[in-house]
Amino acid sequence: MSERAVMAVQQPKTAEVVIIGGGIVGISTALQLAKRGVRDVVVVERRQLGAGATGKSGALIRCHYANVPEARLAHESLRIFRAWGDEVGAGSPGFDPVGFLRLVAPRDEARLRANVAAQQAIGIETSVVTADELRAIEPLIRTDDLTVAAFEPGSGVADPNGALYGLAEAARKLGVTILTDTPAARIVTGGDRVAGVVTSAGPISTGTVVLAAGAWSDRLLRPLGLDFGLVPVRSQVVIFRWPATVDPSRKHRVLVDSTRGSWFRPEDGAGTLVGLGSAARPADPDEADETIDAPAITRARAVLAHRFPGFAAATMRGGWAGAYMRSPDGHPIIDQVPAVPGLWVMTGDSGTSFKTAPAIGICLAEWITEGAPELVDLTPFRSTRFLDGQPWVDDNPYTDAGDLSASR
Ligand SMILES: Cc1cc2nc3c(=O)[nH]c(=O)nc-3n(C[C@H](O)[C@H](O)[C@H](O)COP(=O)(O)OP(=O)(O)OC[C@H]3O[C@@H](n4cnc5c(N)ncnc54)[C@H](O)[C@@H]3O)c2cc1C
Repeated sequence: MSERAVMAVQQPKTAEVVIIGGGIVGISTALQLAKRGVRDVVVVERRQLGAGATGKSGALIRCHYANVPEARLAHESLRIFRAWGDEVGAGSPGFDPVGFLRLVAPRDEARLRANVAAQQAIGIETSVVTADELRAIEPLIRTDDLTVAAFEPGSGVADPNGALYGLAEAARKLGVTILTDTPAARIVTGGDRVAGVVTSAGPISTGTVVLAAGAWSDRLLRPLGLDFGLVPVRSQVVIFRWPATVDPSRKHRVLVDSTRGSWFRPEDGAGTLVGLGSAARPADPDEADETIDAPAITRARAVLAHRFPGFAAATMRGGWAGAYMRSPDGHPIIDQVPAVPGLWVMTGDSGTSFKTAPAIGICLAEWITEGAPELVDLTPFRSTRFLDGQPWVDDNPYTDAGDLSASR
């Protein structure tokens, strides 16, 4: 559908499901609902597709987590990124399986081994490699401060906007209505359950709402009396062009390096994108500057030079900042909110849910159409865990992960 035709779409007065948020979670869910025969799905997006965290994502695609539930979501999603043509059938996610390395400090070796074993047990292609093996797998990195790492040869990176546009094209083909420049002002309840959504274009009557508004979610939850302790966070990434001494024809692996709270992905044009989980700060997503600041550049250069000594003289080429929502325990909330029947939420992604969004969309669509998610058990992601005094605790958390967020 052309952009002109898209913009001409009128907001309907009723819908079977209204999804708030045109990021990867909202659009993935819309597609999966349409695939399951829900013909009347409307997505409302306050600005343009990808205006939130999705458009700014580092789009690292890997399965390594310090817990099994998120690893399962990532594993199921990896299958979709790999088989995009069959699974989505539109656009391209730009998936590039350059291989992924998870680096931890020596004191976390036992935890890393336990996490890799748990991932192998559910079928993830991963192994523990020694520092010697690591040098062969990624000759560009420093390894003298490491004993082991986790290696996923089939993981890599994607193009977050390409993936989003592909999902949106597929969803539209199946009849989903996507309304951009259409902010939702509030979720309406009636008789203690969801009754509709009011947007800038007027009301939509519906019994089912999926709130996938990323760093803006709490604004629509609070008027319903829902406070999950969410905090919007601003995170920065910086791109460097490799020096002339580095072979531009070979892409390096994707790295998450919790010894320095950082992550690295190769960029087209002999470059590396550096992510700074440990520099993420709370910020109003409407006020948050989309550009990077000088301290972030200095810090990015330092972590890059530490892990890739040959990049010490790399040229800074720009970067950006994006906002995501952090939950109190740093893990997503994916739930049908018990206090508001008809309301599903996916929020508090804590900077790590691009890679899991394809499976999250399937789970939410299964839940809405069949009464429960089948693909992955979402119980650990329940919204009530904070009120119940049972926040998420990882199986084998890394002691040096600190405030890694997007690189956890
Ligand atoms: C710098 C950065 C790097 C990251 N790197 C990675 C990574 O390498 N791997 C990974 O897996 N994850 C990564 N993430 C996290 C990942 O991008 C997010 O978890 C994911 O994009 C969340 O998708 P979403 O659809 O839930 O939210 P978003 O993409 O934020 O989408 C929410 C949408 O809702 C819209 N919206 C908000 N309020 C309203 C309203 N009232 N009405 C209508 N629309 C509304 C917003 O405009 C936005 O488009 C990163 C995030 C950042 C910021």
